[in-house]
Amino acid sequence: MNDCLFCKMIAGEIPCDIVYENESVFAFRDIDPKAPTHILLIPRKHIRSINELGEPEQNLAGELLLTAKKIAKDEGIDKSGFRTIFNTNSDGGQTVFHIHMHILGGRKMAWPPG
Ligand code: AMP
Ligand code: ZN
Repeated sequence: MNDCLFCKMIAGEIPCDIVYENESVFAFRDIDPKAPTHILLIPRKHIRSINELGEPEQNLAGELLLTAKKIAKDEGIDKSGFRTIFNTNSDGGQTVFHIHMHILGGRKMAWPPG
């Protein structure tokens, strides 16, 4: 999508600190980290949010989870623990409308979230 920040990062038009990529997913460090480890994991395909996920994205949705597991292990936060979050639309706090999973770790998380 032309005016999507994350699509531009995938295209290499905007620099980012890439953590992992393959033919279907892309992960990079959040520019404004909310924890010692804060990574954003996205599909290469432009999908606006969870609301726009459909039957054709079933494998991709599963791949996001399995990639999060791999990233958490690579970052050394799998055993201590980590949090995965998809913010959706206004009440969810979504500000970039290319679906992304936040992977946060390296500190104790509070519950309930703010
Ligand atoms: P959300 O508020 O859930 O839509 O998350 C969007 C995230 O994108 C925020 O945590 C931002 O800090 C992050 N972000 C915005 N611009 C950039 C960028 N250029 N590089 C890396 N992360 C970014
Ligand atoms: Zn996009």
